[in-house]
Amino acid sequence: MKRELRRLLVGRRYVLPPPVALALERVFGEPVGGILVVEHSRYARAHLGMCATTRPNRILLAIDGQQFVSNADLVLHEYFHVIRQWGTGQLTRWRYLMELMRCGYWDNPFEREAREFAVEAVERYRRYLGEAGSETRRGELT
Ligand SMILES: [Zn+2]
Repeated sequence: MKRELRRLLVGRRYVLPPPVALALERVFGEPVGGILVVEHSRYARAHLGMCATTRPNRILLAIDGQQFVSNADLVLHEYFHVIRQWGTGQLTRWRYLMELMRCGYWDNPFEREAREFAVEAVERYRRYLGEAGSETRRGELT
């Protein structure tokens, strides 16, 4: 009962399809297995208009995991926040908030950096994904 309630509040863990995890590990050059992905997260949904939000070692999705991995740009963007920003200590809630107030959502440096990374990495990521060879996913990740 208690566990069920907790699940309702925090969402459900989503496990990346292996080809997606492999492609991400090649793009970032480090394991991604320690990063928790939560789908249908209440917390993420509370951030109006956002389909995903990040914390150290965690990605909270308002959408379901399938939808998430079918959007290559979004996947790279969120993993960039976790690995290269939270993971390096560059991003903190306080700093994010400061930049958000200073520059707004779209123009704040954390978002700009994540967007630029996704643009730069998406082709490589798709190629790795193809090489990892998921027959079922490939069609969705166009
Ligand atoms: Zn972002």
